[in-house]
Amino acid sequence: MIAAIIDGKAFAGALRERIGAAVPAFVASTGRKPGLAVVLVGEDPASQVYVRSKGKSTVEAGMASIEHRLDDSASQAELLALVDQLNRDPGVDGILVQLPLPKHIDEASVIAAIDPDKDVDGFHVVNAGRLAVGAEGFVPCTPLGCLMLLKDRLGDLAGLDAVVIGRSNIVGKPMAQLLIQQSCTVTVAHSRTKNLPDVVRRADIVVAAVGRPEMIRGDWIKPGAVVIDVGINRVPGAEPGKTRLVGDVAYAEAAEVAGAITPVPGGVGPMTIAVLLRNTLVAAHRREGLADPVGL
Ligand code: NAD
Repeated sequence: MIAAIIDGKAFAGALRERIGAAVPAFVASTGRKPGLAVVLVGEDPASQVYVRSKGKSTVEAGMASIEHRLDDSASQAELLALVDQLNRDPGVDGILVQLPLPKHIDEASVIAAIDPDKDVDGFHVVNAGRLAVGAEGFVPCTPLGCLMLLKDRLGDLAGLDAVVIGRSNIVGKPMAQLLIQQSCTVTVAHSRTKNLPDVVRRADIVVAAVGRPEMIRGDWIKPGAVVIDVGINRVPGAEPGKTRLVGDVAYAEAAEVAGAITPVPGGVGPMTIAVLLRNTLVAAHRREGLADPVGL
């Protein structure tokens, strides 16, 4: 079998178009644009790239992008004061503090200070709790993007066996919660799991979020399974001095067995920013007492 390729880039592009198309109605009824505030502390090069690309995508969708850059040496108190100011700003619907933060700042305290109704990253414990009990809230962007790709591919997920490899608060745990909500039978595997290949072999749905290049091999995959590869790993490329990106799944091997698979790059990666925009638009609607926009 040769797996179908799940084109996350195309799906994310279509989602961003639907978001952009929904913005004018919001502007017409409220007289303002939805606003996403992104806070960057320090000079981390990867974070600078992410923040720039989030800002650009926000503006492209017709929303307001509010960027705050603090010096590496900024204190935790300064950052908390900024978060407090953004919490109270009526033009700000979503607040994203780019992680990682410098070592002298406690990330958990900063995330805890964000108004849960503006927490478009879905990292606040209140939103983690809402997800766990099935209440309305905000779900972390990457796992929500994975769920969208799975539903687009499979339709109803009820009764399917799903294995999530990885138990981080950002990907693995919320992914497992989302799949439980879809009535999958969910196994969460992690660094201490015994016989991981056998665990993965049971799965109709495999979500890999480990951070280890090509760890999941083709002969671990049940024929016809749908494989979602969250991993983004930089490894040495074919030419000296060059690097390339690979996922957590050995793509070429897995594609011979799976029913469908996300490539890296071009699979899950592009979904994250698209879902961030979706969460921001949804936050704006809820804050204005409007119904959630349909089809997002
Ligand atoms: P993390 O390091 O917080 O968690 C990794 C998880 O993998 C842990 O729960 C650990 O128990 C598990 N693990 C480690 N070694 C293992 C092993 N040998 N066998 C089984 N499980 C093992 O990472 P994360 O933040 O969840 O990210 C995971 C990957 O996804 C990374 O490659 C990251 O770059 C990528 N990621 C991509 C996006 C995106 O936008 N596409 C977003 C977030 C993370």
